[in-house]
Amino acid sequence: MPSDATRRIIDASRAALDAALDAGRRLTDGGKGIDEHQVHAERLAYAATEVAAAEALSGYAGGIGDATTDAMAAAFAAEVADRLRSRIEGHREDFGVSDAVMAKSLGDGDVQKAIRAAQHEARFRDIGREMIRTRGVNNSPIDDVGLMARDSARSFARKEVAPLAERIHRHDELVPDSIIAKMSELGYFGMSVPEEYGGQGMGNLVMVVITEELSAASLAAAGSLITRPEILTKALLNGGSEAQKKKWLPPIAAGEIMCGISVTEPDTGSDVAAVRCRAERGEQDGKAGWFISGAKAWCTFAGRANVLALLARTNPDPKAGAKGLSLFIVPKDAFPGHEFEMKQPGGGVLHGKADPTPGYRGMHSYTLAFERYFVPAENLVGEAAGEGRGFYLQMQGFAAGRLQTGGRATGLAQAALETTAGYAAERKQFGRSIGDFQLTQYKLGRMATQVAAARQLSYAAARAMDEDEGAALQAAMAKLLSSDIAVAVTQEGQLIHGGWGYAEEFAISRHVVDALVLPIFEGVKPILELKVIARALLGER
Ligand SMILES: Cc1cc2nc3c(=O)[nH]c(=O)nc-3n(C[C@H](O)[C@H](O)[C@H](O)COP(=O)(O)OP(=O)(O)OC[C@H]3O[C@@H](n4cnc5c(N)ncnc54)[C@H](O)[C@@H]3O)c2cc1C
Repeated sequence: MPSDATRRIIDASRAALDAALDAGRRLTDGGKGIDEHQVHAERLAYAATEVAAAEALSGYAGGIGDATTDAMAAAFAAEVADRLRSRIEGHREDFGVSDAVMAKSLGDGDVQKAIRAAQHEARFRDIGREMIRTRGVNNSPIDDVGLMARDSARSFARKEVAPLAERIHRHDELVPDSIIAKMSELGYFGMSVPEEYGGQGMGNLVMVVITEELSAASLAAAGSLITRPEILTKALLNGGSEAQKKKWLPPIAAGEIMCGISVTEPDTGSDVAAVRCRAERGEQDGKAGWFISGAKAWCTFAGRANVLALLARTNPDPKAGAKGLSLFIVPKDAFPGHEFEMKQPGGGVLHGKADPTPGYRGMHSYTLAFERYFVPAENLVGEAAGEGRGFYLQMQGFAAGRLQTGGRATGLAQAALETTAGYAAERKQFGRSIGDFQLTQYKLGRMATQVAAARQLSYAAARAMDEDEGAALQAAMAKLLSSDIAVAVTQEGQLIHGGWGYAEEFAISRHVVDALVLPIFEGVKPILELKVIARALLGER
């Protein structure tokens, strides 16, 4: 059980939030009018996400009986409650929470006293000192399976990925095949593939734990390699025919085929239902199939990938919207460089060119042009029955991807915490280690607390998905909060490094630019808040 004070703070936040969500449902007519109240809907989505994280961290702390984790749970809950109260007070009419509810919850004198005590700067400084002592290393208790997975992933990531991470980033290299081969051996590409299809069937929690360790060593050259197979695996499990599962899942699990996910187009991003890339039914050399024509953008790993999971319009009637889209598995050759062209014997062409980015280097993200590129009929996910179901399957795949991104973001933030705790212990100014200064301790304490909250929200989402694969709300919340925390924690860590935080030879400068991409992909932050989280929270129950 969490401490009484933490429990009281969280209960008060939950009561105020639930009242605000009820009022939000009325205001938006059960979510139908979110677009007429976008700003308020975003506030509700974010507050609900933060309260869920406070609950996850305090639930975890209550079960392990560790003083630092207890302090983190209390401090995080207090900051969330303080922000929620200030948001409600600042926009009282919008939130629609009555005086009576506020007086009994976040406005209650004892609750406010508990909030002040729990978020007192001295509490954060205690946590920060502990981080300096332990160099921020994550040894948080976890069950035996999780522990084994964490130890083995950490050892691989530190020995084999970390030494290459800086070079890959600075020279914008492609992730070497040696990393892919070792990850294949360890079974990391088949974590969500059931054993009957050659996978590990490890479940979502272990997948997140392993992702964290890989991402701490390198976001793009290790942690993110798993995202694409996770998305395609979930799409195939949800909508693939039995023959497709048998054909594609074993080589995905074995790491024999690398995947890219191709949804975004130059002019179509968030409005996925408006995808324009066309798939026209046809025949080539007596084989039935589809000709793909059109442009795609930001397809990560498209060069090295052996297959692209591509969302294309099979029904040309624009009124068909999302129902006119189908998901294809598009085979291609693997190319190592930043640009490639693939010519099919029948005349189809696929051209790809990587768009340079400040971070997230190692996989390259490509703009693609398809010209009558032939794909056999059996590669439409779900075969004939899958026509028109691509949007739905892609969204289910994205839910899995978002959960994995909770792990990616937590791992990256963890790396920033560790490198910063080490730096603070060693760097001396004014005759003292900078970690001896109160403000550094306070900042490290807040960084560690936020990382712990991101981790426990991601684990809670993984457990929810282990129980019910449809737990898309929890996965979206984990992605939203962990990504923001990764951005905040890497930037705070950079400041603690001073000028050296801006030097490429210090890992923190890479962590900062890598983190910036996290709130953008798999549903850019405002879309995730409005179209996924707010919609799920405010929709009719
Ligand atoms: C490095 C990188 C890698 C990527 N990898 C992949 C990949 O592998 N596969 C893939 O398919 N895509 C990938 N993406 C693309 C990514 O998913 C998209 O960039 C993202 O979904 C947003 O789409 P957009 O860029 O077109 O932004 P837009 O949709 O144009 O949105 C821009 C902004 O407009 C505002 N906005 C838009 N619509 C609304 C609305 N309804 N209400 C309120 N505000 C709104 C928001 O502020 C939003 O942030 C990647 C992107 C990057 C940067």
